[in-house]
Amino acid sequence: MFYKQGKDDNEYNVNNFEFIKKYSPTVGGLIEKEYNRQKNNVELIASENYCSEAVLAANGSCLCWKYAEGYPYVRTSGNTSRYYGGTEFIDQLEEYCCDTWRKVFNTDYHVNVQPHSGSQANFSGYKALIKPGDTILSLSLDNGGHLTHGSSVNFSGKLYNMVFYDVDENGFIDMEDVRRKAEEYRPQLIMTGASAYSRIIDFKAFSEIAKSVGAYFMVDMAHIAGLIAGGVHPSPFGYADVITSTTHKTLRGPRGGIIFARPELAKKVDSAVFPYAQGGPLEHIIAGKAVCAEEALDPSFKEYAKKVVDNCKVFCDEFIKMGYKIVTGGTDNHLFLLDLSDLPFSGRQLQERCDENGITLNKNCVPCEKRSPKETSGVRIGTAPMTTRGFEGEDFIEVAHRIDAIIKELIEENK
Ligand SMILES: *Cc1c(COP(=O)(O)O)cnc(C)c1O
Repeated sequence: MFYKQGKDDNEYNVNNFEFIKKYSPTVGGLIEKEYNRQKNNVELIASENYCSEAVLAANGSCLCWKYAEGYPYVRTSGNTSRYYGGTEFIDQLEEYCCDTWRKVFNTDYHVNVQPHSGSQANFSGYKALIKPGDTILSLSLDNGGHLTHGSSVNFSGKLYNMVFYDVDENGFIDMEDVRRKAEEYRPQLIMTGASAYSRIIDFKAFSEIAKSVGAYFMVDMAHIAGLIAGGVHPSPFGYADVITSTTHKTLRGPRGGIIFARPELAKKVDSAVFPYAQGGPLEHIIAGKAVCAEEALDPSFKEYAKKVVDNCKVFCDEFIKMGYKIVTGGTDNHLFLLDLSDLPFSGRQLQERCDENGITLNKNCVPCEKRSPKETSGVRIGTAPMTTRGFEGEDFIEVAHRIDAIIKELIEENK
């Protein structure tokens, strides 16, 4: 593999495309091309990361052959609530996975590790708390929220009455606006969490507003879960009723979702995942989630999380030194947004030109966006994946100067 994350020398053959090529030259060949693209590129997409060989191996294990609809926990009957035989070891694994996640976040919340993705975790989280037609107050997509936080093209925008709070003109979540809108709209649920927000989110302040209007409070920590686990972002546990996450972003695990809930909401959350939203759980992914939780408990994960944030500050500061505008003027977490609204080209153009130069990042809206969502006036830049690959501050500084050179080229061309 092109980075080292395991304890010993690489024992797992991540180059398994050679094996696949014997059966399908097309599929194996495309995986090989993607492997080389990943290996040769500087990966700055804030939502991506590289999981360990152990997680990859769990994902490709025999658990992929097993059906286990239902849950492992012992219910009132004294039996587990699975709908299939042969689940003895799967039950132990899934319970171990849940217990280990409780240790990661030092919590007694109920855990459900079955959601196939972060979006499905949100689908089930809403279902557990409110009914269709109820009002959710959340951060809109163009201010840094996620598709599942109420976008009109997503289930959330179609099933629920969505109202939004905004960021202020500097790009910070405006807590006064949250309070005002909570009082005006009296939502059943207040939601926070983001895909493109570079500052600390004040979960305590949100929970107090939610309490004052009798709303449930849900946190989607998909992006920052690894930072919370590593102790470099405040935790929502104790404040939120339901917490959802992905496991593949800063947590560095397999692609998937996870839900935490206050113990009294356990049954509602479980039934909102299975049988409401999903059938059989992906037990091979759940095994990967268990390995990921163990890795997050290792002291080295704290160091990793701290490095991600330190590297991000160094990277962001270098752009500021070169005179660039950054949304909110800086960063507290693993990402920042470069604001191109004063420049003669769009986020899409910079994304494409970076792609041609072996740097992968993505276009993103900025506050008070004037270009269309397909063009945008910003790019989102994250440090989690390259920190996994061993980049230090000086490496990010070098990349900042490479992006600066690309921007100068684009300015010249668009004069
Ligand atoms: C990435 C993300 C999700 C969704 O995750 P998927 O696994 O892609 O469905 C949900 N919420 C937020 C805030 C995210 O950033």
